[in-house]
Amino acid sequence: MKTGSHATAATAFAFTQKKQIAGTLGRSGEITTPHGTIQTPAFIPVGTKATVKSVLPESMAQLGSQALLANAYHLYLQPGPDILDEAGGLGRFMNWPGPTFTDSGGFQVLSLGVGFKKVISMDEEMFRSDEVIADHKERLAHVDDDGVTFKSHLDGSMHRFTPEVSMQVQHQLGADIMFAFDECTTLHNTRKYQEKSLERTRLWAKRCLVEHGRLTQARSHRPYQALFGVLQGAQYEDLRRKAAQDLSALNEESVEFDGFGLGGALDKASLGTIVGWMTSELPVNKPRHLLGIGEPDDLFVGVENGADTFDCVAPSRQARTSAVFTLDGRVNISNAKYRRQFSPIVDGCDCYTCTHYSAAYLHHLFASKEMLASTLATIHNERFIVRLVDQMREHINADTFYEFKNEFLPRFYFKRLA
Ligand SMILES: [Zn+2]
Repeated sequence: MKTGSHATAATAFAFTQKKQIAGTLGRSGEITTPHGTIQTPAFIPVGTKATVKSVLPESMAQLGSQALLANAYHLYLQPGPDILDEAGGLGRFMNWPGPTFTDSGGFQVLSLGVGFKKVISMDEEMFRSDEVIADHKERLAHVDDDGVTFKSHLDGSMHRFTPEVSMQVQHQLGADIMFAFDECTTLHNTRKYQEKSLERTRLWAKRCLVEHGRLTQARSHRPYQALFGVLQGAQYEDLRRKAAQDLSALNEESVEFDGFGLGGALDKASLGTIVGWMTSELPVNKPRHLLGIGEPDDLFVGVENGADTFDCVAPSRQARTSAVFTLDGRVNISNAKYRRQFSPIVDGCDCYTCTHYSAAYLHHLFASKEMLASTLATIHNERFIVRLVDQMREHINADTFYEFKNEFLPRFYFKRLA
């Protein structure tokens, strides 16, 4: 067992690696936070504005979600970090007793401001540059070496995020795991810009550690909040490895990163390779979170290459458009063929939706635009992805990871073509 834990006794943050997939960087483990433990690998559902849209936190716990991730940018604008601080932190505010994450806001500040549509897990063969940077969209964010100035997408008001502001906001939000403020680039930025941006992110990471150390001391009456450094470097091996080496070596007045976020633009075809470059440089006793990844094939590749936790809005976003997961791939429940399917969406699925309602009922709810449609479809999709990653963990522990992968993926992606 290899254990890493933060220096002071009251911190209660640690990671223990349990089992490795033979011959790979993939592993199972356990993250300990002040609000409970997370068995890894684990999928962390996203509640952007401190709510998984249309679903009760109690239902998220019931469907097996071990933690939730909220968005610092959105909560900063509404209701404001002071409100969450006064409420006793994100978990208490939304009645979620388990572990919580917040991202740094860096991705949203830049993506909502500049107008990127897709950044994470892009399939290079599939996209055109106008899908990445929307020309018609007003440029709402400007980056300089000190931080980012941006216009609120809600009311047009001007704001400025620096590494220090991001740390102050995230400490007020009170999540168990926070991310350092970084610049998220795209695959379309030049190599020269990627180099410059990576150095900027490294300098911001140092400033985040200093401010995080100061706030941890000033707010020692609060539960310890862990800070993850975010690795960028786009598709370049040397930059990805350098980011991992640089950020894992940082130590500002005895404050180090507790874990790492694997971020930025990742071409789908080389996702595993890029994740492997980073994780092979990172210490084994600290957890790694792969940001914004939630497609089944990407999750297998991420787990195999040493990522421990994942988050993505896709399961709930797709559910609201009537796209639901089955073992034979994603299907649209609004399709006429489900009108008389009085069995569940997936036979044998243990989710609340499938154990109580038929596909025909869900089809009807979507057809009549009832709110319950989103609730029931989201519960099924989140359960499907949470359970998939839980099964990967169980198969790692039983030395049967590849048997499970070879059983799941061909059926999910190819059977419907037959
Ligand atoms: Zn189900």
